[in-house]
Amino acid sequence: MSRWRRGARRARGEFPTLTSGVKIILVHPRGFCAGVRMAIDVVDRVLELFPGQTIHVFHEIVHNTHVVGRFERRGVVFVDSLDDIPSPAGKIVVFSAHGISPAVRRRASELGLVAIDATCPLVTKVHSEAVRYARQGYQILLIGHRDHQEVVGTSGEAPDAIQVVERPEDIPSLRIRDPDQLVYLTQTTLSTDDAEVIIDALRRAFPAIKDPPSSDICYATTNRQHAVRKVAPECDLVLVVGSRTSSNSVRLTEIAATAGTPAKLIDDVSELDPAWFPTGRETVMVTAGASAPEDLVADICKDLVGRHGAVIEQRELVEEDVEFHLPGALRRAMVERGLSPGPSRISMPLVTADRYGAVALTIDGREARGRPEA
Ligand code: SF4
Repeated sequence: MSRWRRGARRARGEFPTLTSGVKIILVHPRGFCAGVRMAIDVVDRVLELFPGQTIHVFHEIVHNTHVVGRFERRGVVFVDSLDDIPSPAGKIVVFSAHGISPAVRRRASELGLVAIDATCPLVTKVHSEAVRYARQGYQILLIGHRDHQEVVGTSGEAPDAIQVVERPEDIPSLRIRDPDQLVYLTQTTLSTDDAEVIIDALRRAFPAIKDPPSSDICYATTNRQHAVRKVAPECDLVLVVGSRTSSNSVRLTEIAATAGTPAKLIDDVSELDPAWFPTGRETVMVTAGASAPEDLVADICKDLVGRHGAVIEQRELVEEDVEFHLPGALRRAMVERGLSPGPSRISMPLVTADRYGAVALTIDGREARGRPEA
């Protein structure tokens, strides 16, 4: 019997319901998205390909303290300015998943750096939209967080045409040339609810404003938020594994709070507080932002199983099969050395007792449409 059919039978009560101490609802999808997997893979492979060279990464490769710390321990140097790279000519610099402005690309070239661009293709898509609309004479209202590296990078594509909108209160101070030549774009990791509020306000202020060709909020952000919206209401607590610098992780805690369930954003198991489980019978949703490594999630589950006799139910909500190729410059370097770029080397591990403290029962929580039976 397939995992999906077993899950559906449990959901109908044909298998016994688990009763124990704490109940963990481990939602899927969670954690690494395709863009983060690709970006981490890039730095990993660059380290293997160029042993003995100092590899620089412009900004945090992804917004997670553990990912950054693990690379630092392997000798990677993270910089916030290309001018901080000593004797840059011929050195390798990797651009992070959040993307860069053309000015940074130009500076890398002036300094003679060898650039490998790990920008997520879904961020590049927003850059391309910005360039296209600016060329067509549109003013662009970019919904997002002004200081986020992604927004800084996108704004740099057309600085004269783009204005950032963080909240509806920003709308009266926008400088609009022609309300019929306006389009909005969004940061990829916004809360879909918050973005909708701002988009509605923009439509009221500028009825002719154009939508982007498709949503700029990416599939991974949308899916992880959907999981929280769906499962948080049946839980006493939501644990989001991720760093405070991770926009999509912070959004998950906000969405849980909006659904009426308290949420904690934790980097790792060391931040778990026993006071969050006063009865020892709480139902806890565990999820992770798109840049959080899965081993940190496993450690948290293992701790809860060991400390509170937790059982794990894995709730499958959406299947994800998005995969991005390594950047062209890296693929060429690998091929030159006789190596095959191949598919991503990072995948989601199985929930085993060894890793997570218990084997998960899997419940198929997807809406019934196009459900595979194989
Ligand atoms: S969260 Fe979305 S846009 Fe950001 S790296 Fe992941 S897939 Fe790309």
